[in-house]
Amino acid sequence: MSSMSSSFRKVGILGGGQLGTFFTIAAKRLGLQVSAWDNHPEAPARLWADRFSNADFNDEQACENFIEENEAISFEWENIPVALLKKIEAKRPVRPGSEVLCLLQNRILEKGFLVLHQFPVSPYRQILEQVDLRDAANELGFPLICKTATAGYDGLGQFTLTKTADIALWTATPKRCPQGWILEKYVPFQKELSVVVARNEQGQVIHYPVTENIHEAGILRSCQVPANIDPMLSLKAVDLSKKIVSALKGVGVFCIEFFLLEDGTLLVNEIAPRPHNSGHYSLDACDFSQYELQVRVLCGLPLLSPTLLNPAIMINILGSEITALRQPEYFHQLLSIPGAKVYDYRKETIKKRRKMGHVTLIAKDSAALCSRANALRAILDRAALE
Ligand code: ADP
Ligand code: MG
Repeated sequence: MSSMSSSFRKVGILGGGQLGTFFTIAAKRLGLQVSAWDNHPEAPARLWADRFSNADFNDEQACENFIEENEAISFEWENIPVALLKKIEAKRPVRPGSEVLCLLQNRILEKGFLVLHQFPVSPYRQILEQVDLRDAANELGFPLICKTATAGYDGLGQFTLTKTADIALWTATPKRCPQGWILEKYVPFQKELSVVVARNEQGQVIHYPVTENIHEAGILRSCQVPANIDPMLSLKAVDLSKKIVSALKGVGVFCIEFFLLEDGTLLVNEIAPRPHNSGHYSLDACDFSQYELQVRVLCGLPLLSPTLLNPAIMINILGSEITALRQPEYFHQLLSIPGAKVYDYRKETIKKRRKMGHVTLIAKDSAALCSRANALRAILDRAALE
């Protein structure tokens, strides 16, 4: 056995949503035991993990138990308390580590890091007090987007400002955030792209292909892979992503989100220190998924470059769409689409815009993929009328 090999057989995942669930399934398939910890009693990983802890992330006893049960730990989202990660890290390997999490869970620190390393970002200002917004808005010019520095996801905590009058609107109802806000120039992007990369302890970096993403009201709706862009741009996005994760010295799976402008400029939007919704397709369209890669990096197992076996389109099932799709009529229709891989996360509480499931479509060529995507959209449209 080489010194690089690990013998971890028990791994823990902080957060048991769909990303933590796919990590759990990937680890269990490799024969590992998995403990998942989530503060939500309905977290889908409860259905899959060997052990599921439903406790607050500040619960000291739960933390002791989690350390006891696991040999190495990862997480599924960036809003896990850094203090918890530090406590675990004192006793067990945590990948990525608390320093990287601390940087990436605060948009101001994240943008500061990108600027320091000369990665291209949209112009922005840090807002510490509400009254600062007016001056910053005048400096940057409209349109703008104001985001809470911490705790935002799926477009939550964001406010778009298109004119001076919107400043008063935001000031009257700011999304509260003790760490302040970031005010960014709104980017008139041509496309949104993302690249999932993984980096191991030895500094080896591998990547998935560039994905093209469509958001609706700040939440990811669909992805297409490979992205329909100039191959030179793909190379550039991959190169930037690898450089970013190397500059971070991050160990784990990361996703870099980009805005592609009309003139071919790429701007970095944000960095997720974990597998990403836009990489769900890798479960079905690649030789191994981003979740297996998360397990491999965590456990110091071989890091191979993934291969995309088929082009794919992934569509998220949001909110009440799942109600209709759970009915036999629609469920049968969905499963009648060739190449459709259907995932229902079995979340019981249905909330508007909540990610409830997804469907990945795969096909040998883009014409077949397109017609399958149209069939899926037609079913979603009919289900929406229910
Ligand atoms: P989240 O953590 O919620 O994913 P993002 O910063 O990625 O936060 O914002 C969500 C979405 O909102 C983006 O994918 C994009 O569609 C839109 N958005 C965010 N920032 C900007 C911006 N500066 N210009 C244009 N659109 C933006
Ligand atoms: Mg995002």
